[in-house]
This record gives sequence, structure tokens and C-alpha cells, in this order.
Amino acid sequence: MREKTTAMGAHILVVEDEEKLARFVELELIHEGYEVSKSANGRDALQMAQAGDFDLILLDIMLPGLNGLEVLRRLQLGRPTPVILLTARDAVMDKVAGLDAGAVDYITKPFAIEELLARVRVALKLHGKAERGQPAPQKEEGYRWGKLFLSQKRHQVTYDGKEIALTNREFQMLKILLENQDIVLSRDVLMDKVCGFDYVGETNVVDVYIRFLRSKIDEVYGEKMIQTVRGVGYVIKSNDGE
Ligand code: CA
Repeated sequence: MREKTTAMGAHILVVEDEEKLARFVELELIHEGYEVSKSANGRDALQMAQAGDFDLILLDIMLPGLNGLEVLRRLQLGRPTPVILLTARDAVMDKVAGLDAGAVDYITKPFAIEELLARVRVALKLHGKAERGQPAPQKEEGYRWGKLFLSQKRHQVTYDGKEIALTNREFQMLKILLENQDIVLSRDVLMDKVCGFDYVGETNVVDVYIRFLRSKIDEVYGEKMIQTVRGVGYVIKSNDGE
């Protein structure tokens, strides 16, 4: 039941000026449990697509107002909604142009409704909201380096599950190094990020924090996490091992 609700909640915009076909597709989609909006004009469709929150757009190419390819191109400029093009049988160039312009699929008219429904399911599965633009959960939550884990949410660092007590500046320094694994960060950059741009002091303050971090992590756990790159700065090299 739960699984069905997810698929069934999807909102689809059908853009098609052949009234009978549009109505037929609408009824079939509603029958499958989708929510459907319709438009028979390119210009209106573009407005609807930009204003609405659709999961998928079925877009005819030959449309009054603004043709489907132009609608597609303008849509791709914003936050893209997956588009399946409805094309005429011989319009090979339209298909190519459509895919180039960002359509996820096309279907040639006349089509069997089962084929359209199957393509709708696939497009929603591959390009649905859940699949778009979501950061990987671990990235959002924190950074891992071997047995060390820095949790942004809890503002906490653990090694093998045991908490390491860090001051705020030490935490920030470690976070920046973990965020930029394999990138050597200069003392100036670290200084700016940790102490703020207005900080006027000696860059060897960075060395002091690095020393604190090493004494709390590297020395306690026998790691060589923070590496010095002579004359440049510091780096944490990625470590996928447990
Ligand atoms: Ca048409």
C-alpha cells in the first residue's frame, strides 16, 4: 500500500493539442492513480510548468503558441522537470533535438497506451524528485575518515564510536580539512576559514590548532591523519579503509 502511494502521488502535466488524445491519456493516467493537469498550448504549458510542481511532463512537439522543443529548452533553464516528448512518426530530427535539449525519453505517435504508461513509470523512477538533487545522506550528516567521524548535526567527532573533545576552532579546522580531502589547504586559507577574514594575527596560529588536533587524534589513536605539505599547508588524504 505504502509503495503504491508514492508512485500514485505523482503529478503529471500532459501537453497535447489533439483533444481526443489528450483526454485519452489523461483518463489512463488517472486510472493508474496519477494526478493529471492538461494544456493544449505551448505558451500556457510553459507557464504551468514553471509555476507548478510537476513530477513529469508529457510534451507534444507540434503545438500552437510555442512548439514543444522551445517549451523544453526554456524549461531546462530553470529547475528541470523530466520530460517525455510525444513525437510524430517521421520526426527523427525532433527526437534528436529533443534529447539534446534535455528530454529524458520520447514516444512516437501513435503509441500503445501500455507503452506510454511503462515509460512514465520508468521516467518517474529514474528522474523522480527523490532522485534529483538530493545530497548523499552521509555528506549532509558529516564526514568519515577511516574510524573517525565528524557529525555536523551533533557537532561532534568520534573515533571508533568514542567521542573526542574538541574546542570549536579545532572542530572547524578539522571539518574544513575533511571537507576538502586530498586538497592541500594553505595556512592562509585555513586561517581565513577558521578565524574569519577579519582576524589579523600570525598564520602560525593554524600550526597551533593542527598541533592540538594531532595530539588529540593522531597521537592518541596512532594515526597519521593530518599531513604537512612543506611550504604549502596541510592536507587530509582520503581514507576509505575501516
Ligand atoms: Ca500536436
